[in-house]
Amino acid sequence: MAQLRFEALKKLSERPRVHVELPNPNVSKFFGENVYGAEQMRATLAPAVYKKVSQAIKNHEKIDEVTADAVASAAKSWAIAKGASHFTHWFQPMTGGTAEKHDSFFDALAGIERFKGSELVQQEPDASSFPSGGIRSTFEARGYTAWDPTSPMFVYGRTLCIPTVFVSYTGETLDTKAPLLKALKAVDLAATKVCQIFDKDIQHVVASLGSEQEYFVVDKALFQARPDLVMAGRSVFGHAPARGQQLEDHYFGSIPSRVYDFMKEFEIEAWKLGIPVRTRHNEVAPSQFEVAPLFEEVNVANDHNQLMMDVMGRVADRHNLRVLFHEKPFAGLNGTGKHNNWSLITDTGVNLFAPTSSARDNLMFLTFFVTTIKAVHEHNELLRASIATAGNDFRLGANEAPPAIMSVFIGSQMTAVLDELEKKGNVKIEKGDNMYMKLGIDQIPEIILDATDRNRTSPFAFTGNKFEFRAVGGSDNCAVAMTALNTIVADQLEKFHALVEKEIEKGEEKRLAVVKVLREYIKESKDIRFEGDGYSDEWVTEAEKRKLGHVKNTPRALDAYLTKKSAELFERHGVMSHKENEARVEIRQESYIKRVQIEARVMGDLAMNHIVPTAIAYQTKLIANANGLKGLGVDNTTVVQTIKEISGHIDIIKTNVRAMVEERKRCNKITDTHKRAIAYCDDIKEKYFEVIRDSVDKLELLVDNEDWPLVKYRELLFLR
Ligand code: ADP
Ligand code: MG
Repeated sequence: MAQLRFEALKKLSERPRVHVELPNPNVSKFFGENVYGAEQMRATLAPAVYKKVSQAIKNHEKIDEVTADAVASAAKSWAIAKGASHFTHWFQPMTGGTAEKHDSFFDALAGIERFKGSELVQQEPDASSFPSGGIRSTFEARGYTAWDPTSPMFVYGRTLCIPTVFVSYTGETLDTKAPLLKALKAVDLAATKVCQIFDKDIQHVVASLGSEQEYFVVDKALFQARPDLVMAGRSVFGHAPARGQQLEDHYFGSIPSRVYDFMKEFEIEAWKLGIPVRTRHNEVAPSQFEVAPLFEEVNVANDHNQLMMDVMGRVADRHNLRVLFHEKPFAGLNGTGKHNNWSLITDTGVNLFAPTSSARDNLMFLTFFVTTIKAVHEHNELLRASIATAGNDFRLGANEAPPAIMSVFIGSQMTAVLDELEKKGNVKIEKGDNMYMKLGIDQIPEIILDATDRNRTSPFAFTGNKFEFRAVGGSDNCAVAMTALNTIVADQLEKFHALVEKEIEKGEEKRLAVVKVLREYIKESKDIRFEGDGYSDEWVTEAEKRKLGHVKNTPRALDAYLTKKSAELFERHGVMSHKENEARVEIRQESYIKRVQIEARVMGDLAMNHIVPTAIAYQTKLIANANGLKGLGVDNTTVVQTIKEISGHIDIIKTNVRAMVEERKRCNKITDTHKRAIAYCDDIKEKYFEVIRDSVDKLELLVDNEDWPLVKYRELLFLR
């Protein structure tokens, strides 16, 4: 039974390094060479066409047919010159990951390569196998993909990939990108309106995202010898290694050479695709790493993150490695997140979350800063729901993980500024006074938080010139969290604007009107601010007092989408209709059920067909030994003790696996998806996973190492 494990370990010991050479030491020489971006468009399109396209992108407008034809034709020639023979509409269905269907440029009838504007603009993949949460009846299983010109096309392999949205024939969106684009438009409109209180030159505000991607790397053969990693992306069993992350020696340590080769190669591939990968380092847990690109406009950044995950997977394969993005692949070790660094930047180049030396700009900065905090306070449960997945439940809210409570960390300096503003907000300002000075906002330090002032336990932290939404799961599509965040901020900005207008109408001076509303916001949203240890039990108690949401699992967390407040919020900003919103929640509940179901099955199979037989075989050896000892008149109590212990664990495993199977049968009969998801959570996952695992992990310590069938944590996690 342990044969597979030892074969895999042998392979591991014989792995050669893969030599990787930079195509050119100047990355700028090949960066983006496979992207049909602004530069390439300018070079290949007529100036008038190029202007039309860039205007449409900036103003979130449709591109007309003639322009589309011109772009298609130019993109085709460019792509063919790059070696592409096919094109595909690349989209992000609700299943997670990306999807594509390739068509050849070659038109056999005409005997030439062609690519029409209509093919660029719209395609009809067979949508029947993608989840729709009941939007599509099986009879009209058709939807279409539509070109998203705000994200550049790229050649990947031999295919020209066209970023697209995925929409049903009845107009409902079926992917993660479409609502994101709408949320980004909403935040642009609202933020621009608010900016114009301060600066009429600002015409657009762009939301930016820099997502730090964490991941684990394991050897391919070892991975394949663990059916749980293969099937569920997570190890359902495995005793903690003697050395875990307690030494904290992996963090920023030297990168293991095989992983280093892999990183070098995937960076090269990412650069060619215009993904601005910048930093790489080890994470805290053994075999955990992080890659961070430079921030970009949210939609492009997210496409790049999705593409990068794909690139990493493919490159890893060439290095006989496997990348794990799962939120909690190994119990007892840190989980995997995707920190979403987010900010709003004006078309005049001002980062609205960066304090400056200009007092006027600082009032604008404070406006966006405070309004964001207020938005998170108002909608903290929705934000929590936005990151809810079966995998992330193991990372947030589980025993060893930070709680699933949303709070905002802003650091001591900004706390002082807000306290001051709150206190002085009603100070009488006379003619000729320096208002900014009187309010204590004339000089906000240009805070560059150093590492010591960083609160790494906060799910939503201000880090000097951006907010960092850290609760997003490692395998998740950032679009879901970004849609929620940008929508709630857009909404709060709208409300802020209306309140300020009202004050102005009442005769208040503009800046004082702003201050007045901010002061209210600071007071009202105080409860969401937390500077202490977010992982502590005290915080859980405190958050409860503050009435902050603390929902531990996905099926219940998702309810926050269905409240009147949230549903209307999304509809008000044109991000999602009620129907779309409900459909999405349904899809996510279903996906939760499937994940738990897969894990439960893998667990049952491994426990009953691998672990129990191994334990029995070993026990049989012990019994022979015990009898032998007895025959010789030697004391055999310790052996008998072990035999009994093994029996005890085998009993627990068998009883619980059988009961879990019965429970699944019962759960599967529940027709209501929401109730079924809750049942899968409470009556399967919560009730059985830990108990079964506990006994299996205990057996791992009892059974002879030579016989153990599963690759152990210490073998998986210490690559060189
Ligand atoms: P940290 O040390 O806080 O992790 P880094 O400078 O390494 O800071 O940045 C982490 C990520 O945040 C990177 O992806 C970076 O591009 C991104 N980032 C930096 N500034 C911004 C910003 N204004 N908006 C969005 N993301 C940003
Ligand atoms: Mg960070």
